Amino acid sequence: MASIQKNYQDVNSELELIMNTGEILQDFSSTGKERPWKIHKQENLRLVELYKMSKERNLISLISDSRLHDLEHCADTLVFLQNAEGKKKLKSANFCRLRLCPMCQWRRSLKMFGQVQTITDKILERDKSTRFLFATFTVKNVDAENLETCINILNNKFLYLVSKNKTFAPAKKLKQNLLGYLKAVEVTYNTKDKTYHPHLHVIFAVKSTFFKNSSNYMSKKEWISLWQQALGVDYKPQIDIRAIKSGTAKAVAEVAKYPVKTAPILKLDDDEAVEVLKTLTFCLHKKRFVSYGGIFKTIKQELKLQDVETDKDLVNTDIEQQERFNAVTAVLFKYNFKFGCYIC
Ligand SMILES: [Zn+2]
Repeated sequence: MASIQKNYQDVNSELELIMNTGEILQDFSSTGKERPWKIHKQENLRLVELYKMSKERNLISLISDSRLHDLEHCADTLVFLQNAEGKKKLKSANFCRLRLCPMCQWRRSLKMFGQVQTITDKILERDKSTRFLFATFTVKNVDAENLETCINILNNKFLYLVSKNKTFAPAKKLKQNLLGYLKAVEVTYNTKDKTYHPHLHVIFAVKSTFFKNSSNYMSKKEWISLWQQALGVDYKPQIDIRAIKSGTAKAVAEVAKYPVKTAPILKLDDDEAVEVLKTLTFCLHKKRFVSYGGIFKTIKQELKLQDVETDKDLVNTDIEQQERFNAVTAVLFKYNFKFGCYIC
């Protein structure tokens, strides 16, 4: 892989860089969908505005001046490689890598999508009878003060379901069939009652016997009971559990998108948005939100896949595309604040 990248750079350096043509950026994915560069840049600038507002109001400084500067200039200059058909592939960009930056979240979710797809393809390649389940585990909503504790509880209690080191009888059936999991924490904000809704999205890889054998199979009722007992609460927590048809790695990847979404918060009124931003900035600071277990972890390590959360490279999100792309030129686009779009 490293040698491919190197050869690639050598070829790129000989390419002519096209600038100042006035062309408006249009970048399409392999499925023909326009990539939402300008939407994410607009969201990014709203986040900058909110951080500035929180500072002006003499609230605690949520981020340092230099981080704010990075955020403001995140992806304001993009260089694309272009092939003979006019198809683009990002070559370089100045991503800020801030956790709440909508632009960087989008890049991370693309990366995550590619990774999960690669891992599940590999799992199925080794044993095509492997089945996947997609689950969402919730708890009752909490207020800002209790959010951090609640996230910790969710993560700890989840271990009762999957960890071999934790004795927890109700999870016996699941553990007997479990091959691995991918877990992501998501926090959403409820505008009506101004509470936070932390929850877990999980993909379980299970043995085919989980479905074939009625003594192994778990009904939704059993899942709810299992989660309720793990949490040790007196209410029935909401759960969503779905089997993903075997062989559909794409569906698995689809549900593994990056979990902390800033975009809905940016649409709130200034006061409320600043307040929510404050809570999330503190709660999310230096925490892990995605974790791999069992076969997911082993294959990720074997394939030497980068860690999506700490990974510095948000330019290359698709391994395959990089190897196939035949660039003929490079084109530079800058974000234009007046027109709200990227222009060459
Ligand atoms: Zn960014």
